[in-house]
Amino acid sequence: MNKEFKTDISPCKITDEELSQINKFTVRELTKDEVYTFNVVLCDNEVDRDCEQFDISALEKLAELFVGVTGIFDHNPKAENQNARIFSASCEKVAGKFNSLGEDYVCVKAKAYMPRTEKNKDIIAEIDAGIKKEVSVSCAVSGFTCSVCGGDMRYSSCSHIKGDEYDGHKCYCVLSDVQDAYEWSFVAVPAQMNAGVTKSYAKEFENMENCIKAIKNGNAVKLTEVQSKQLAEYIDKLEKQADDGKIYRQQLTQEAVKFALIAVPTLKSDSVEKMCSSVDTKELIKIKDAFKVKAGEIVPLSPQLKAKKYDNEVDNSDFKF
Ligand SMILES: [Zn+2]
Repeated sequence: MNKEFKTDISPCKITDEELSQINKFTVRELTKDEVYTFNVVLCDNEVDRDCEQFDISALEKLAELFVGVTGIFDHNPKAENQNARIFSASCEKVAGKFNSLGEDYVCVKAKAYMPRTEKNKDIIAEIDAGIKKEVSVSCAVSGFTCSVCGGDMRYSSCSHIKGDEYDGHKCYCVLSDVQDAYEWSFVAVPAQMNAGVTKSYAKEFENMENCIKAIKNGNAVKLTEVQSKQLAEYIDKLEKQADDGKIYRQQLTQEAVKFALIAVPTLKSDSVEKMCSSVDTKELIKIKDAFKVKAGEIVPLSPQLKAKKYDNEVDNSDFKF
């Protein structure tokens, strides 16, 4: 997911210790005169415009994962992208400051460096002059907890909608379990093609998630043309996944039947198939595994059974004990 965050960028002085941190990332040892360093806040525990909030453990993990990650300045379309790299980052509580929920304000403060080259001259001058920019961080998260019921918002165990109010409580999603930090970049000009597209897409997608929830809840939903298209794309994606799921179930059923007939030779394949079709996929895996264990006990004792095949659809590789 991408998260945009308004940030201050400020130049910082570099210590000997920091220079050695930086030199861990460089091919050649750089001197203090050759590097330019600056502070940047990457993200915080504020509920953002997508009605999402990183929890503290997520911010701590992001601080850890963003060290060494390269960032891009997208602001100048005529220059090549200018790169900077984060060489240190930490999760910090800002004393006396609170987020909109009244919690202690916590943010990920990072330090980045870039070589003082001709190419970087302009951006260095801008940072020295004091600029405010929007930083976009891209990361993978696997925890999506509803602030109203504590349920998992992704797998629809809750019916709440981000941004809606429930008994005076505005629902938001708590992001946790950060898996990876991919990149960070500055998007200064909203008119920038890429930034604009990504943002509006992300926003529409959010709306669409809400819209699917509303449909599931049986509410009437009006869609814009863009949303209709996105919903269609989403359905396409789900159909593809469903097809994959069907193929997977077929394979599982074939294996279950194959092992069942070895484990219990008096069974008929169609009755095993019937049994398999009536359970969910998790149960089907358990059934297949149980028959596999049983079949494994029998096959080595009765080599003649190896020749017994269930259909030709299934190859025999599983029988190579
Ligand atoms: Zn909920």
